[in-house]
Amino acid sequence: MKNGRSWAEVDLSCIVNNYNIYKRFAGKNVMAVVKANAYGHGSVAVAKALQDEGVDLFAVAAINEAIELRENGIKGLILILGYTPPEKFDELLKYDISQSIISEAYFETMLSTRKEYKVHVALDTGMNRIGIKAQYPEHCEEFIRKCSESMILEGVFTHLCVADTKGEEEVGFTKKQIALFDDVLERVSDLDIPYRHCANSAGGLTYESRFSNMDRLGIILYGLKPDNSFKLPEGIRPAMIWKSVVTMRKHILAGETVGYGRTFTADKDMDIGIISTGYADGYNRLLSNKGYVLYNGEKLPIIGRVCMDQFMVDLKDSDAKQGDKVYLIDTEKLTADDMANMTGTIGYEIVCDISERVPRYYSEGE
Ligand SMILES: *Cc1c(COP(=O)(O)O)cnc(C)c1O
Repeated sequence: MKNGRSWAEVDLSCIVNNYNIYKRFAGKNVMAVVKANAYGHGSVAVAKALQDEGVDLFAVAAINEAIELRENGIKGLILILGYTPPEKFDELLKYDISQSIISEAYFETMLSTRKEYKVHVALDTGMNRIGIKAQYPEHCEEFIRKCSESMILEGVFTHLCVADTKGEEEVGFTKKQIALFDDVLERVSDLDIPYRHCANSAGGLTYESRFSNMDRLGIILYGLKPDNSFKLPEGIRPAMIWKSVVTMRKHILAGETVGYGRTFTADKDMDIGIISTGYADGYNRLLSNKGYVLYNGEKLPIIGRVCMDQFMVDLKDSDAKQGDKVYLIDTEKLTADDMANMTGTIGYEIVCDISERVPRYYSEGE
């Protein structure tokens, strides 16, 4: 039985389909990025569905995310894309998890344990986040060779920081990033490094690297856009809808106010509905007096401030009553990307924020 308060429905076949469409397009290895609870979609369920389809390359951001996957039967390669505290290095071995080498100092810390880990060396080609600076290719070459002597070198990667934007300046910058990556990889091509990866969702669809043989697919796996200007390939669809219910109807009179801070005043007598979702469920408070829900396809605007567990909407002329379902996110007329536009963020943040209190239900398609 579905929780009748606030819940999400995830179509796993849609995620698998998005993966397959992307993979056909990319024509190389595609690592499924399932960090942050698979961008809010449920990492174990998503990884299992992909594994059933033969996917054996996964990426997460944190060691606890990687261990959760292993403990739930996910095999294949699991890469941690960022920092793992040295106290947890033993777990990398215990659970057979691959670790990014984020800096030279970090490599020295790994080395000091006198153990051999599976590693991917991170190159910084201009984002100035993790990775060793690829502007010094000879030095990178030397470092990668050193890593290969003491660790199991599975991969080398970089990350693109404006691959989702198509301006001339951005395209030029991204090409420069890829050129730096390719330059380093060419120098170490004799090492036959199994995985060489530089592209996220946006990068893989738009750019070519000579030496890359894998993309890291995140947001497009879930059917959302890397950026609003971005056009998704035909057939990619959002995989999650978020529903809640009207818990009561209320008639209010002209001049009455609604909610905390009394930020909404009725200018006429009206019917309002109380919705059982709030910011503790991950429903962004910036949607106060701004967002809307869908009831039978009709937009019902949010009035007043979003509370921790509830918010109020203008019912307009609708007949919505106790227990009737509303869509907070749907796959067409109110996507996470649409919601992000209303709050000045990106779809990524909207779905990642849907909290644990919101149960996820899974289907294999309609
Ligand atoms: C999160 C992440 C990705 C996935 O990016 P998308 O834009 O969601 O495809 C890829 N690579 C790294 C290093 C990441 O941190």
